[in-house]
Amino acid sequence: MRDIWKAERGCECGTWMKKKLFTLAGIKVRGWECPKCSESILHPEDAQYALVLNKLKRGIPVKIGELGNSLFFRIPKEIVDFYKIKKGGKLVLKGGKKKMEIDV
Ligand SMILES: [Zn+2]
Repeated sequence: MRDIWKAERGCECGTWMKKKLFTLAGIKVRGWECPKCSESILHPEDAQYALVLNKLKRGIPVKIGELGNSLFFRIPKEIVDFYKIKKGGKLVLKGGKKKMEIDV
C-alpha cells in the first residue's frame, strides 16, 4: 500500500497543504492543513486509530450470547483490526472481583 503520508497534498483552494500534528481526544494524529484557507484533513489510519482508542478508553459494551454450555461475546471488527486478533489465536482473560481484562 502506498504511504499517503509521503505524498504532497493539495487543497481544494489550489494551495499545497502543510503537514501538521493534530491532537484528537488526547491522541496525536497526523494530518494536513492549508495555510491559505485553514482546511484540514486527518490521516485516515491515524484518525481511525484515535477513534478506536478513544472508544476503548470509554469502554465498549458487548452482548453476551450462549452456545452450548458456554457463553460468548463478539469482538467488534474495528477492535479485531486494532489488535490484529486472528481466528485460532489466543487471548488471556485476567481480572479481579469486579473487573476483567483481556491480554492480546
Ligand atoms: Zn485551502
